[in-house]
Amino acid sequence: MAERRTAIHFFCDNGSCKSESRSKKFTKPAVVTLIADGTDVTLRFARSPFVSGDKVIQIPADTFVKEKLAGTSGTFKYSVSCSACSSGNDDAEFILGL
Ligand SMILES: [Zn+2]
Repeated sequence: MAERRTAIHFFCDNGSCKSESRSKKFTKPAVVTLIADGTDVTLRFARSPFVSGDKVIQIPADTFVKEKLAGTSGTFKYSVSCSACSSGNDDAEFILGL
């Protein structure tokens, strides 16, 4: 079965880091493209949902990072921060039900 491919944009809106989907559900193995729109974005996961095992993902402005989801079910909370603001946002999550 082909892997699913999904892209998620991160950006900063009036001093608040945003993800286009705060809570993202995955029900199949997927490659996720994490895109930073106009600001350097850092994602910090409490535990990594990725095959790479990376818990901190740094995405320079207007570039992207690809990560493959590991085959582990669960809820993976993460925070989003960026170079354009100091507040960040720690209310994002991936939900894996593989
Ligand atoms: Zn921000």
